[in-house]
Amino acid sequence: MYPANSQTILVQSKTAYQNYIHQAQTSPYWKNADFDGFSLVAQGQSKEYCKKWISYGCDNVKQHPHKQHYAEHQLKSCKVAFCPKCFESWIGRQANRTTRRLSKFLESRTIRKHYKFRHIILSPPNAEKMSYKQLKRNLDFVLKVGNIKTCAIVFHPFRFNKDKSVPVISPHFHLLVYGHVTNTTEFYNKTKWTIKNKGDLKEDRDIFSCVRYLLSHAGVRKSTHAVRYLGDISYRKLKVEKESNIPHCPYCELPLRIFSINFSSGHEPPPIDYVGLWDSSCFSPVEDIDNDTKIPFYEMNDNGTYTEHKIYSFEELLHIKMNTPKITHHKYFMNQLRFKTSINCLKITSFN
Ligand SMILES: [Zn+2]
Ligand SMILES: [Zn+2]
Repeated sequence: MYPANSQTILVQSKTAYQNYIHQAQTSPYWKNADFDGFSLVAQGQSKEYCKKWISYGCDNVKQHPHKQHYAEHQLKSCKVAFCPKCFESWIGRQANRTTRRLSKFLESRTIRKHYKFRHIILSPPNAEKMSYKQLKRNLDFVLKVGNIKTCAIVFHPFRFNKDKSVPVISPHFHLLVYGHVTNTTEFYNKTKWTIKNKGDLKEDRDIFSCVRYLLSHAGVRKSTHAVRYLGDISYRKLKVEKESNIPHCPYCELPLRIFSINFSSGHEPPPIDYVGLWDSSCFSPVEDIDNDTKIPFYEMNDNGTYTEHKIYSFEELLHIKMNTPKITHHKYFMNQLRFKTSINCLKITSFN
């Protein structure tokens, strides 16, 4: 049996997550959705540099094969939930953080009885009439009744119609709960909240997919965390190392720095999404002259060429400020190495 036409295949092959992403980008009804200051993801403004390319690289060519420049071009994202261009990067990063936190906690649990995290939905009665603050306070009480201590919480102010294009105010909470989940009927009788069990999350990737799905249509509000952690996975109880995001050169291990691309060097410039070795005449390092230094960003044109835009960006300026001294010291050290006695003067560890 085959579906009647290709349209059917297309609709069927879209996951629920992709469906929400599509509506976030296209539905006019998502724009005006508001509950107590919460809106839906992707409904704000993007910044000038969002989804433009930036030329990271390393010009320590003495230590590279064929004395070539190493380029690692990256797509810049503001990673903000409200940004219509970058919200998927935000969702991915948040889902990744939650997965790391929950799996670190699970790893520490090997001796005692081992549960999985379970996805449940808690829906309060008459929720539309309450503020978020009231809902949260009621939730605290309800969690006590249900004996739920360790969990991650995502707040959803809205439910959706079948094709997910129209949000309707209907606040509820999604929880990833660790431990035994209470008897449903007894819980309802005591609290009048309904509890729906969506099943265990067996592996890390199940946690990731679940959180990613939940965040695609979560309520977002400035200075309110989209994912909250309670009990043994709270920020206070569980420390998780931050993911390092300073990329280094694979040939000489120096931190990468930002370059501008020379279009008139005589050598063909690299493709804008390039990663690898390239002729060094195509790149000039961006120096931090003053606090207003603009960063070159690149935008792909339809015909495969690209255009440069100089944009002020604090994050990149900070990167230049922090990494330039390290790079200069390292290069100086490598030059000194020609004289054997100098090795004792400066050890490589002094740069770390
Ligand atoms: Zn953005
Ligand atoms: Zn290098």
